[in-house]
Amino acid sequence: MRIAGAIDIGGSATKIGIVAEDGSIVRRESVPTGLHGEPTVLIDAIVSSLGPMLNAVSGGASPVPGIGVSVAGFLNRDRSAMIHNANLPALREFPLRRSLEERLSLPCRLEVDSNSAAVAEYRHGAGRGSTRLLGVTVGTGLGGGVIIDGKLLRYTGECAGDLGHIILDPKGRLCTCGARGCLEAMVDSASVSERGGGRAVRDIIRSAHKGDQLGLNVLAETGWWLGLGLASLSPIFSPDRIVVGGGIAAAGDLLIDPTKASYREHARPEFREKTQIVGSSFEGWEGIVGAASLFLDPLA
Ligand SMILES: [Zn+2]
Repeated sequence: MRIAGAIDIGGSATKIGIVAEDGSIVRRESVPTGLHGEPTVLIDAIVSSLGPMLNAVSGGASPVPGIGVSVAGFLNRDRSAMIHNANLPALREFPLRRSLEERLSLPCRLEVDSNSAAVAEYRHGAGRGSTRLLGVTVGTGLGGGVIIDGKLLRYTGECAGDLGHIILDPKGRLCTCGARGCLEAMVDSASVSERGGGRAVRDIIRSAHKGDQLGLNVLAETGWWLGLGLASLSPIFSPDRIVVGGGIAAAGDLLIDPTKASYREHARPEFREKTQIVGSSFEGWEGIVGAASLFLDPLA
């Protein structure tokens, strides 16, 4: 089976792995993005992690053709650098593709992380068979990718735009972009943690699965905001399916059920029944699955 290398640079964690053409992850590791200074620190961490993985699969039946790189933020037109992300300022305008190609001695292709996630769902996950797919990932930020009739929508920053910054509540929580009450600011990891009294998101999810009422309330409130945001996006993209991914998808139905209820409450009638809302099945690893498809099975 054909394989490719894959990197998913997020606001907090960078996921690294080897992915097969059926979407299965052969090897994987997560390192902190840790971008407080020079981007070369992150490049070193990526090379230290991916280098041994590439060595381990070299000499196998299928040579690695290249490394797909998913990165949070807008890309420039030739997809060689990230040019805008309030959560990752240190990486802005950094020659990411060239740096990785020099260090890894393999071709690299960049993609916006929200696009990668949508592609992973469309090819191998909960988005299969959809004709108008909206994929959102919720973590440090909120990103969205749109695939219509098998084609990625690219009209701002090589993606569908900054969907996380539609404004849901002008008096709401301050967003990293400077506005208030953006969808991102109401559902991102920091907001979920705040609702949970400062606990880490994964702890909140774990306790909710055990029946902890505060954890359940946090996920219900987060789902309410997410459903409102998705209802606001539907008249623009008219999705037949919405897949919710990112770290928070580990909450499963504890998040998806209140999201669906809020969507039905807020969306206009034509979307209430037409749009399916489902959780990702990649447990936060959809970024590398979609990145690998840049070499294994790219969309048109
Ligand atoms: Zn914002």
